[in-house]
Amino acid sequence: MRKELETSLRNLKTDMIDLYQIHSVDYLDQLEKALRPGGAYEALLKAKEEGKIRWIGVTGHSRPVILKAIYSEKFDTIQIPFNPIEDEWLEDVIPAARERSMGIIGMKPLAGGALRNAAESIRFSILKGTDVAIPGMDSVEQVEKNAGVGEELRELDAEETEKLEEEKGTWEGRFCRRCGYCMPCPNGLNIPFLLLIDAYYTRYGLKDWALARLNTLDKKFADCTECGECLDKCPYQLPIPEMMKEAAERVI
Ligand code: SF4
Ligand code: SF4
Repeated sequence: MRKELETSLRNLKTDMIDLYQIHSVDYLDQLEKALRPGGAYEALLKAKEEGKIRWIGVTGHSRPVILKAIYSEKFDTIQIPFNPIEDEWLEDVIPAARERSMGIIGMKPLAGGALRNAAESIRFSILKGTDVAIPGMDSVEQVEKNAGVGEELRELDAEETEKLEEEKGTWEGRFCRRCGYCMPCPNGLNIPFLLLIDAYYTRYGLKDWALARLNTLDKKFADCTECGECLDKCPYQLPIPEMMKEAAERVI
Protein backbone atom coordinates (compact mmCIF):
# COMPACT_ATOMS: atom_id res chain seq x y z
CA MET A 1 0.00 0.00 0.00
CA ARG A 2 2.88 2.30 0.81
CA LYS A 3 4.34 1.67 -2.64
CA GLU A 4 0.94 2.34 -4.26
CA LEU A 5 0.61 5.59 -2.35
CA GLU A 6 4.07 6.78 -3.40
CA THR A 7 3.14 5.97 -7.03
CA SER A 8 -0.12 7.94 -6.68
CA LEU A 9 1.67 10.96 -5.21
CA ARG A 10 4.24 10.87 -8.01
CA ASN A 11 1.67 10.43 -10.79
CA LEU A 12 -0.59 13.16 -9.42
CA LYS A 13 2.42 15.47 -8.88
CA THR A 14 1.31 16.33 -5.37
CA ASP A 15 2.54 15.78 -1.84
CA MET A 16 -0.91 15.28 -0.35
CA ILE A 17 -3.99 13.35 -1.48
CA ASP A 18 -7.36 14.30 0.01
CA LEU A 19 -8.98 10.88 0.00
CA TYR A 20 -7.30 7.50 -0.36
CA GLN A 21 -9.66 4.53 -0.55
CA ILE A 22 -9.16 0.81 -0.07
CA HIS A 23 -11.12 -0.28 -3.11
CA SER A 24 -13.61 -3.07 -3.70
CA VAL A 25 -13.59 -4.71 -0.29
CA ASP A 26 -16.41 -7.17 -0.92
CA TYR A 27 -15.68 -10.05 1.44
CA LEU A 28 -15.08 -10.12 5.19
CA ASP A 29 -11.69 -11.79 4.81
CA GLN A 30 -10.61 -8.92 2.52
CA LEU A 31 -11.60 -6.39 5.19
CA GLU A 32 -9.80 -8.37 7.88
CA LYS A 33 -6.71 -8.58 5.67
CA ALA A 34 -6.75 -4.81 5.11
CA LEU A 35 -7.13 -4.08 8.83
CA ARG A 36 -4.68 -6.59 10.28
CA PRO A 37 -1.28 -5.45 11.66
CA GLY A 38 1.08 -4.68 8.81
CA GLY A 39 -1.87 -4.43 6.41
CA ALA A 40 -3.09 -1.76 3.98
CA TYR A 41 -4.93 0.26 6.62
CA GLU A 42 -1.88 0.57 8.84
CA ALA A 43 0.13 1.96 5.92
CA LEU A 44 -2.61 4.51 5.18
CA LEU A 45 -2.87 5.54 8.81
CA LYS A 46 0.87 6.18 8.91
CA ALA A 47 0.56 8.23 5.70
CA LYS A 48 -2.28 10.20 7.30
CA GLU A 49 -0.14 10.97 10.35
CA GLU A 50 2.63 12.11 8.02
CA GLY A 51 0.22 14.43 6.20
CA LYS A 52 0.44 12.55 2.89
CA ILE A 53 -3.31 11.85 2.87
CA ARG A 54 -6.18 13.60 4.62
CA TRP A 55 -8.90 10.96 4.74
CA ILE A 56 -9.08 7.17 4.50
CA GLY A 57 -12.03 5.52 2.78
CA VAL A 58 -13.34 2.11 1.89
CA THR A 59 -15.40 1.03 -1.11
CA GLY A 60 -17.47 -2.09 -1.72
CA HIS A 61 -20.70 -3.76 -2.78
CA SER A 62 -21.59 -5.89 0.26
CA ARG A 63 -23.77 -4.39 2.98
CA PRO A 64 -22.47 -6.61 5.83
CA VAL A 65 -18.86 -5.87 4.89
CA ILE A 66 -19.36 -2.12 4.61
CA LEU A 67 -21.33 -2.13 7.87
CA LYS A 68 -18.45 -3.89 9.59
CA ALA A 69 -16.05 -1.32 8.14
CA ILE A 70 -18.26 1.48 9.52
CA TYR A 71 -18.49 -0.14 12.97
CA SER A 72 -14.70 -0.44 13.04
CA GLU A 73 -14.68 3.39 13.30
CA LYS A 74 -11.49 3.43 11.22
CA PHE A 75 -12.72 5.02 8.00
CA ASP A 76 -13.71 8.58 7.10
CA THR A 77 -15.75 7.72 4.01
CA ILE A 78 -17.59 4.85 2.34
CA GLN A 79 -18.21 4.43 -1.38
CA ILE A 80 -21.19 2.25 -2.31
CA PRO A 81 -23.39 1.70 -5.37
CA PHE A 82 -26.51 3.83 -4.85
CA ASN A 83 -29.30 4.52 -7.33
CA PRO A 84 -33.06 3.95 -7.65
CA ILE A 85 -32.49 0.19 -8.14
CA GLU A 86 -29.83 -0.22 -5.45
CA ASP A 87 -31.40 1.75 -2.61
CA GLU A 88 -31.36 -1.01 0.05
CA TRP A 89 -28.36 0.77 1.63
CA LEU A 90 -30.87 3.17 3.17
CA GLU A 91 -31.97 0.43 5.58
CA ASP A 92 -28.79 0.21 7.62
CA VAL A 93 -25.55 1.34 6.00
CA ILE A 94 -26.42 4.96 5.25
CA PRO A 95 -27.94 5.67 8.71
CA ALA A 96 -24.90 4.05 10.39
CA ALA A 97 -22.52 6.19 8.32
CA ARG A 98 -24.58 9.35 8.95
CA GLU A 99 -24.52 8.72 12.72
CA ARG A 100 -20.74 8.81 12.53
CA SER A 101 -20.60 11.85 10.20
CA MET A 102 -18.86 9.83 7.51
CA GLY A 103 -18.73 10.98 3.90
CA ILE A 104 -20.90 8.89 1.56
CA ILE A 105 -19.85 8.57 -2.08
CA GLY A 106 -22.45 7.09 -4.42
CA MET A 107 -21.01 5.09 -7.27
CA LYS A 108 -23.13 3.91 -10.20
CA PRO A 109 -25.91 6.51 -9.81
CA LEU A 110 -27.22 5.26 -13.17
CA ALA A 111 -26.99 1.62 -12.05
CA GLY A 112 -24.07 0.92 -14.34
CA GLY A 113 -25.83 2.29 -17.40
CA ALA A 114 -29.08 0.41 -16.71
CA LEU A 115 -31.06 3.61 -16.02
CA ARG A 116 -31.68 5.96 -18.91
CA ASN A 117 -33.28 8.81 -16.94
CA ALA A 118 -29.85 10.13 -16.04
CA ALA A 119 -30.68 13.50 -14.46
CA GLU A 120 -33.47 12.08 -12.29
CA SER A 121 -31.33 9.14 -11.17
CA ILE A 122 -28.44 11.38 -10.17
CA ARG A 123 -30.84 13.66 -8.28
CA PHE A 124 -32.29 10.60 -6.55
CA SER A 125 -28.82 9.47 -5.49
CA ILE A 126 -27.73 12.80 -4.10
CA LEU A 127 -31.02 13.78 -2.48
CA LYS A 128 -31.88 10.41 -0.96
CA GLY A 129 -28.65 9.04 0.34
CA THR A 130 -25.20 10.17 -0.75
CA ASP A 131 -23.08 13.30 -0.50
CA VAL A 132 -21.68 13.01 -3.99
CA ALA A 133 -22.51 10.94 -7.05
CA ILE A 134 -19.81 9.72 -9.41
CA PRO A 135 -21.36 8.53 -12.68
CA GLY A 136 -19.09 7.09 -15.33
CA MET A 137 -19.05 9.31 -18.43
CA ASP A 138 -17.59 8.85 -21.88
CA SER A 139 -18.46 12.04 -23.73
CA VAL A 140 -18.25 15.79 -23.12
CA GLU A 141 -22.01 15.96 -23.61
CA GLN A 142 -22.58 13.53 -20.73
CA VAL A 143 -20.19 15.48 -18.51
CA GLU A 144 -22.07 18.71 -19.22
CA LYS A 145 -25.49 17.14 -18.69
CA ASN A 146 -24.53 15.36 -15.47
CA ALA A 147 -22.72 18.37 -14.03
CA GLY A 148 -25.78 20.49 -14.88
CA VAL A 149 -27.86 18.41 -12.44
CA GLY A 150 -26.15 20.22 -9.57
CA GLU A 151 -27.40 23.56 -10.84
CA GLU A 152 -31.00 22.54 -10.29
CA LEU A 153 -30.91 20.12 -7.40
CA ARG A 154 -34.60 20.01 -6.57
CA GLU A 155 -36.68 17.19 -5.11
CA LEU A 156 -38.19 14.70 -7.55
CA ASP A 157 -41.84 15.39 -8.28
CA ALA A 158 -44.51 12.69 -8.50
CA GLU A 159 -44.16 12.29 -12.26
CA GLU A 160 -40.37 11.92 -12.09
CA THR A 161 -40.64 9.43 -9.21
CA GLU A 162 -43.10 7.36 -11.20
CA LYS A 163 -40.78 7.41 -14.21
CA LEU A 164 -37.92 6.07 -12.09
CA GLU A 165 -40.13 3.42 -10.47
CA GLU A 166 -41.27 2.26 -13.88
CA GLU A 167 -37.68 1.98 -15.11
CA LYS A 168 -36.64 0.21 -11.93
CA GLY A 169 -39.44 -2.30 -12.52
CA THR A 170 -38.01 -3.32 -15.87
CA TRP A 171 -34.84 -4.53 -14.08
CA GLU A 172 -36.62 -6.35 -11.25
CA GLY A 173 -35.13 -9.81 -10.84
CA ARG A 174 -32.39 -9.21 -13.42
CA PHE A 175 -29.99 -6.78 -11.81
CA CYS A 176 -26.85 -8.12 -10.14
CA ARG A 177 -25.65 -5.95 -7.23
CA ARG A 178 -22.24 -7.67 -7.00
CA CYS A 179 -22.89 -8.37 -3.32
CA GLY A 180 -21.25 -11.80 -3.59
CA TYR A 181 -23.80 -13.58 -1.37
CA CYS A 182 -24.18 -16.27 -4.06
CA MET A 183 -20.54 -17.30 -3.75
CA PRO A 184 -18.79 -19.67 -3.73
CA CYS A 185 -20.03 -21.55 -6.77
CA PRO A 186 -19.17 -25.27 -6.44
CA ASN A 187 -18.09 -25.25 -10.07
CA GLY A 188 -15.66 -22.38 -9.63
CA LEU A 189 -17.56 -19.65 -11.50
CA ASN A 190 -16.98 -16.11 -10.22
CA ILE A 191 -20.68 -15.26 -10.51
CA PRO A 192 -20.62 -11.49 -9.73
CA PHE A 193 -17.63 -10.90 -11.98
CA LEU A 194 -19.14 -12.86 -14.85
CA LEU A 195 -22.39 -10.92 -14.56
CA LEU A 196 -20.37 -7.70 -14.47
CA ILE A 197 -18.57 -8.73 -17.66
CA ASP A 198 -21.95 -9.40 -19.28
CA ALA A 199 -23.17 -5.96 -18.17
CA TYR A 200 -20.08 -4.26 -19.61
CA TYR A 201 -20.52 -6.17 -22.85
CA THR A 202 -24.22 -5.49 -23.27
CA ARG A 203 -25.01 -2.28 -21.38
CA TYR A 204 -21.81 -0.27 -21.75
CA GLY A 205 -20.95 -1.64 -25.17
CA LEU A 206 -17.35 -2.16 -23.98
CA LYS A 207 -17.02 -5.42 -25.84
CA ASP A 208 -13.22 -5.56 -26.08
CA TRP A 209 -12.82 -4.74 -22.38
CA ALA A 210 -15.34 -7.42 -21.45
CA LEU A 211 -13.79 -10.07 -23.69
CA ALA A 212 -10.29 -9.32 -22.41
CA ARG A 213 -11.51 -9.85 -18.80
CA LEU A 214 -13.43 -12.96 -19.79
CA ASN A 215 -10.31 -14.47 -21.31
CA THR A 216 -8.50 -14.23 -17.97
CA LEU A 217 -11.07 -16.53 -16.33
CA ASP A 218 -10.81 -20.33 -16.23
CA LYS A 219 -14.55 -20.77 -15.80
CA LYS A 220 -16.87 -18.91 -18.13
CA PHE A 221 -20.65 -18.58 -18.59
CA ALA A 222 -20.99 -21.89 -20.40
CA ASP A 223 -19.33 -23.76 -17.51
CA CYS A 224 -22.43 -23.24 -15.37
CA THR A 225 -23.89 -26.74 -14.86
CA GLU A 226 -27.22 -25.28 -13.71
CA CYS A 227 -26.81 -27.09 -10.38
CA GLY A 228 -28.92 -24.34 -8.81
CA GLU A 229 -26.85 -24.06 -5.62
CA CYS A 230 -26.53 -20.29 -5.97
CA LEU A 231 -30.26 -19.69 -6.36
CA ASP A 232 -31.25 -19.71 -2.68
CA LYS A 233 -28.24 -17.62 -1.73
CA CYS A 234 -29.09 -14.62 -3.92
CA PRO A 235 -31.24 -12.25 -1.83
CA TYR A 236 -32.60 -10.71 -5.02
CA GLN A 237 -33.86 -14.02 -6.41
CA LEU A 238 -31.92 -13.65 -9.64
CA PRO A 239 -32.26 -16.62 -12.01
CA ILE A 240 -28.47 -17.00 -12.13
CA PRO A 241 -28.22 -20.21 -14.23
CA GLU A 242 -30.60 -18.70 -16.79
CA MET A 243 -28.58 -15.48 -16.86
CA MET A 244 -25.37 -17.46 -17.38
CA LYS A 245 -26.97 -19.32 -20.27
CA GLU A 246 -28.18 -16.12 -21.91
CA ALA A 247 -24.78 -14.46 -21.43
CA ALA A 248 -23.03 -17.49 -22.94
CA GLU A 249 -25.04 -16.99 -26.11
CA ARG A 250 -24.56 -13.22 -26.13
CA VAL A 251 -20.97 -12.68 -25.10
CA ILE A 252 -19.13 -15.54 -26.78
S1 SF4 B 1 -26.08 -22.84 -11.04
FE1 SF4 B 1 -24.23 -22.37 -12.17
S2 SF4 B 1 -23.47 -20.48 -11.28
FE2 SF4 B 1 -24.98 -21.33 -9.85
S3 SF4 B 1 -23.77 -22.51 -8.38
FE3 SF4 B 1 -24.41 -23.92 -10.00
S4 SF4 B 1 -22.75 -23.89 -11.52
FE4 SF4 B 1 -22.47 -22.13 -10.17
S1 SF4 C 1 -26.13 -12.86 -8.33
FE1 SF4 C 1 -27.31 -12.14 -6.56
S2 SF4 C 1 -26.11 -12.77 -4.78
FE2 SF4 C 1 -24.77 -12.95 -6.54
S3 SF4 C 1 -23.67 -11.02 -6.59
FE3 SF4 C 1 -25.45 -10.78 -7.94
S4 SF4 C 1 -27.06 -9.92 -6.65
FE4 SF4 C 1 -25.48 -10.69 -5.27
